[in-house]
Formats: sequence, C-alpha cells, structure tokens
Amino acid sequence: MILDHSRLCDTPALLRPAEEKVANTLGATLLVWCGRAATGLYWAYRVAQQCGRPVRRAEIILPSIACASPAATALAAGCRPRFADVDPSTGMLTLETVRDRCCEATRAVVFIHLYGQTADLRPLAAWLRDRDIVLVEDVAQAHGAVLPDGSPAGSVGDMSVYSFNRTKILECGGGLLAIRRDRYAKFLMDLVDGGPRGEIDSQTAAELALSYRNLYHALVTLRRTRTANDIAGAFLPMQDAYSGLYTRSLEDAGVIAAAWPTIARVIRKRAATAAIYSTALAGGPWQCLDGWRSSGVCWRYSLLPNSSKGSQNLTELVRRDGFRVSNLYWPLNDLFGPEDSCPAAELFARRVMNLWVDDTVTSEEAAACCRSLWRHAKVLEGENLERQGPDS
Ligand SMILES: *Cc1c(COP(=O)(O)O)cnc(C)c1O
Repeated sequence: MILDHSRLCDTPALLRPAEEKVANTLGATLLVWCGRAATGLYWAYRVAQQCGRPVRRAEIILPSIACASPAATALAAGCRPRFADVDPSTGMLTLETVRDRCCEATRAVVFIHLYGQTADLRPLAAWLRDRDIVLVEDVAQAHGAVLPDGSPAGSVGDMSVYSFNRTKILECGGGLLAIRRDRYAKFLMDLVDGGPRGEIDSQTAAELALSYRNLYHALVTLRRTRTANDIAGAFLPMQDAYSGLYTRSLEDAGVIAAAWPTIARVIRKRAATAAIYSTALAGGPWQCLDGWRSSGVCWRYSLLPNSSKGSQNLTELVRRDGFRVSNLYWPLNDLFGPEDSCPAAELFARRVMNLWVDDTVTSEEAAACCRSLWRHAKVLEGENLERQGPDS
C-alpha cells in the first residue's frame, strides 16, 4: 500500500515487483510506502500504543546512539522515548541494556542496525514477545544486510522501517514500513483511517529540516566541548515546532521502482570501498568496526580511536586534509531524556569516527584518507583510555 496524506492507497503497478520482493524477504503481511523512515516509525509507535494494557503514556526504548528522528518521532506520536545504553564495541542495543530500561509502560523497542552492522536478534525478540512488547527493526542504514545467522535484516522484528532518503543506501527518496504480524497490520489500517490529514509542503519541510539540524548541532557542540551540561532543557521545548517533519507522504513511486534494481551494485561498491579502509587501517591506534563484513552492508566505515580526546582532534585534522569524516551520533539521552544514564554511549560517541563509502568516494580518495589518518594518528597518543570514565 501507499500512504498518501494518511490514506492507504493501492501500490501502483510499477512498484509491485519491489513490494513483492521485500514482502517475501521479510515475511511481511503488509508494506506501507511513505515519505520517510520517520513516518514508518510514527505509525509503528501508534500501533505499539494499541498493544497491552492501556497506560497513561506509552514508552519506546531506543538505543542512545542514533540520529534524533526516531526519538523526535516518538514524541510526535505521543510516546515517551527512553534510552538504553549500548554495547561499547558496536554502539547497538543488547538484551541486557534493554532489560534495564524496560518497565510496565514499555510498548516497543527499536533496534537500529547501526552503520550496517547487525546482531543476533533472536534472544531479544523472544524476551520481548513474552512481554507483548513490539520489536521494531530500523534498517535505514542496513538495507540488504543479513543477520549473523544469515537471515535478512528486518525479518525478525514485528515491524521494520527503511529509508531511501539522502545519505542512505538507496538515495532516491522515500521510506517503507513493513509489518510482519496480521494483528498489527489490522491496527494500522484502523488507525490510519483516523490519522492526521494535513501535511506541510515540501519547501517548508526542507527549511524546517535544516533548522532542526542546526539546532541539534549547535546544542551537541555545547556538550561535546563540555561547555554546557543541560541541553535537553533547550531542545525539548522546541520539539512541537518540528512535528510536521515526521508524517510525510511518498512523493514519487517511480524513483523507487527505478532505483530498486541497483541495490546489489550499490552495496557491492560500498563494500569494495570499506575493504580499502579495512586493509589500510589495520593495526592502527583504533578499533575498526568490521561488522559490515558479515552483514554484507557498510553504511559508513567506522573506527573507534583508542582515545576519546584525541578523536575530535583527529577528525578535525583529517577534515582539513579535505576528507569527509563524521562523528555519529551524540547520545540521545542528553537531548531527550537526561535521566536515562548511558555511560557506554557517551564514551562511544566521544570516540567514533565515520568515513564515507558512498558512490562519490573513489578508491584513490579512500586510500588517501587512510594516509591522512596515519599521518595524524599521533594525536591519539599520550592518553590512556582505561583510566578515562565518561563525564556524567
Ligand atoms: C536516517 C535515519 C532515519 C530517518 O530516515 P528518514 O527517511 O530521513 O526519516 C531513521 N533511523 C536511522 C537509523 C537513520 O539512519
């Protein structure tokens, strides 16, 4: 189906081959194409609110290491986002960290396959199923990846969301919600009928998205530099102004249909670039996150330098040499829920560096980026990570 201003319409013929492929791969009973992954999450949260005993405010557990939209969307859907700490070596949720944050009001857990890495989700899925808590797989960064047991990413959760927007694996525009349980599909059909009808126009959405990004980065810098402690006090009251960003209709089914057959080639090209980084960076004063090798998909090649303080300096020096490096992400609990302490996430965020592997990166550029990293690697010296605690 296609979500058009909160009406479900039949999938146009040109998108049906892609729809059939995803449905078969995931074992999904209902696919809903929409404008963004965030829109898929919005409806997943609304469905999750229908499950279990009624609570005043449903809670959604998210990994602390993620972009802001899964949390911002939870607020837009009327839920309280809660933040679980992450595995310090991957930045992803574990059964233990989820268990720590789980309570009577928990209605869903979003597992994010970060940077294309995957994990064995079966123990978490079984634990959540016993408690009637919805498991949502966010495969925005892991489109086409496989889990350690070989099953496709997105095929274990009760629902899964995909993004086809800029910076993701396919960048043609759009998003997708896949539902794997008849009961949740039925909830969605009923909810959408009474859903919000109006949407902001795309020009306003683009301006608001830029404003949101600026606000986010401005506040995160205050925490990164330890210039301010409380940034949630500034960030949370602004969230309502951006709520129109999260429910977006699919603008063009044709672009997804056209891009779909290119997925395998795009993933191969990314893996080839990741392999260059992996070989050239082996043995450095950093830990390489090589989970993309087993998952098959690399979103951004990621490193955890052995020093959190030096990591920012290294990023800056490599950027000055003309290479694209990001430090994604800042812990979401700092922005949305400071009461949820996530010390491993803070240490991870202060260390992580992400290198580009998209279509625009040539093999020469990737190799030159590695030389730049080695040239400046000495800024990581003189600091003992073991002795450093995260600042709280
Ligand atoms: C980009 C991203 C989203 C949001 O995708 P949109 O299509 O922009 O809504 C959600 N989750 C993760 C992990 C992402 O990387």
